[in-house]
Amino acid sequence: MAIPSLIERAVQLFSQFPGIGEKSGRRMAFHLLQQPEAFSRSLAEVLLALRRDLRFCKRCNGLAEGDLCPVCMDPFRETSLLCIVESAEDMLCIEESGAYRGIYHVLGGYESPLEDRSIPERSLIQLVERLQKEKNIEEVILATNPRVEGELTSYRVCEYLRSRQCGSRITRLSYGLPVGGAIGYADRVTLHAALESRRNMEEGG
Ligand code: ZN
Repeated sequence: MAIPSLIERAVQLFSQFPGIGEKSGRRMAFHLLQQPEAFSRSLAEVLLALRRDLRFCKRCNGLAEGDLCPVCMDPFRETSLLCIVESAEDMLCIEESGAYRGIYHVLGGYESPLEDRSIPERSLIQLVERLQKEKNIEEVILATNPRVEGELTSYRVCEYLRSRQCGSRITRLSYGLPVGGAIGYADRVTLHAALESRRNMEEGG
């Protein structure tokens, strides 16, 4: 089958994105061809700038365009709350929810013995240094993902902080059933977590 090699290359690149197979990759390539040239130019510019201009925030490891990320530069954040997330993407999701006004620490990894992965040591060291330096942090919220690796990650961070006498209160997100979902459709892990993180009715839960 004779396909122009440029199309083939584009499809091959697009299909490396998560959730994009060859078929979707081809749709993206043809969609691109139907757009004005300016679209391709902006896309190329943004893709290059993403790699060139984005760096890790010096304070929290989130994504920043300068030394500090927008959260760390914001003087109105609640600096007594420190939310620990696995990735900058998770930080973005929590930011988008608008439900949190504290500050963050991005671990940049998670614990998974099966994948032979663990939290980068420097990230843990940096976290302890922050807790020692930023005296007004009262509560550390572990917001790792609700899966086995997330559990292990939370456990590791908690142990690490405890062994270094970090006195802040440590909490973690409670996991529940998805709003609008049905108990019958919830998987066993979710149901288990929902039961484990149940609260007293008097607390408003
Ligand atoms: Zn930051």
